[in-house]
Amino acid sequence: MMQKYKPIRRQLEARLADIQQRLAKISLDRRHANQPLNADFEEQAIELENDQVLDALDEQIRAEMKQIERTLAQMDEGMYGKCEDCGKPIAAKRMEALPHTTRCIDCEEKFQQMRSAAV
Ligand SMILES: [Zn+2]
Repeated sequence: MMQKYKPIRRQLEARLADIQQRLAKISLDRRHANQPLNADFEEQAIELENDQVLDALDEQIRAEMKQIERTLAQMDEGMYGKCEDCGKPIAAKRMEALPHTTRCIDCEEKFQQMRSAAV
C-alpha cells in the first residue's frame, strides 16, 4: 500500500461507510413499503412509485459501492491508477475527478455502451 494513496483511500473508505448507511436506510424504507398496500388508489400509486425510486436508488448506490470496493482492492494489489480492462495508466486528471474509477476513459465509454445495450 503506497503512502501517496492514503488520503484517497481514507476518502473512499469514508464514502463507503456513508453508502452503507444509506443502503441500510433504504432497506428500512423498503420494509415499510412492503407492508400491505393502502386501499386508497392514490396512496397505492404513490407507494408503488416510491418503491421504484427506492429500487433505482438502491441499484445506483450498490454500483458505486462495488466500484469503491474494487478501487480499494486495486490499491491493495498496487494496481491503483491502472485501467482494469486495458492495463494502461488512467489519466491523472480523470483520477483526480473520479478517485474511485477503475477504467480509463476509452474503456469506460465502451463499458457504459455495453451496459446500456444490455438493459
Ligand atoms: Zn482502458
